[in-house]
Amino acid sequence: MTPHPPSEITPMAESHQLPPTSRPLIECIVVGALAANCYLLTCPETRETIVVDPGDDAAAILTRIAALGLNVVSIVHTHGHFDHISATEAVLAGLSKAVPVAAHPADEYLYSRDARSLGRQFGYPLPGVCVSPNASLVDGAALRAGTLVLEVVHTPGHTPGSVSLVCGDTCVLAGDTLFRRGIGRTDLPGGDEDQIYHSILTSLYTLPEQLLVLPGHGESTTIGEEQRGNPFVRTS
Ligand SMILES: [Zn+2]
Ligand SMILES: [Zn+2]
Repeated sequence: MTPHPPSEITPMAESHQLPPTSRPLIECIVVGALAANCYLLTCPETRETIVVDPGDDAAAILTRIAALGLNVVSIVHTHGHFDHISATEAVLAGLSKAVPVAAHPADEYLYSRDARSLGRQFGYPLPGVCVSPNASLVDGAALRAGTLVLEVVHTPGHTPGSVSLVCGDTCVLAGDTLFRRGIGRTDLPGGDEDQIYHSILTSLYTLPEQLLVLPGHGESTTIGEEQRGNPFVRTS
């Protein structure tokens, strides 16, 4: 694969303001034995699309991309667990052009062949050549697709390199950090319970209440609903 330079990813300004962005068209495809949510976030004006967490079922993802006439410009992983990345190679192979694959560098250990092979017991594909991310999702970076801007927020705890992606005042893709009435597990290698609570309290619960939370598994929710009803996170 010939990687594009990650020109879509530029540092954000110092002040923490939600960057101006259009409202994305959002498609969710539930993929794989562990039922992860793969999201297609699309600029409503240019139909440029960011694919988030292609965990399995590449054919279904590519079919939806073709049916909607989307122009994929990047693939992004909220973290490196196999249920979120295993269809990356097959999706890349099915696109009409090479696009960058972006992940946080602290999850690099999850891209080894050994780590990837753990998914086989659940039926996840293990490609002949495993992808290495070629764009780095560092805290504060911005991902762009047309008029769409996603801000990268490092939210470690579920894994060291877990990130959340904030789209203006519309939504946040929370990966396996925050679920509707739940949080991500921290008992896998690299997990850290104190860190996940810190990430949720300081990086997610400080976002606007009405923001839609699009988690890595299960139904969507809002920041306010979880502040009030999530039994795992104490806010006082
Ligand atoms: Zn995970
Ligand atoms: Zn997961």
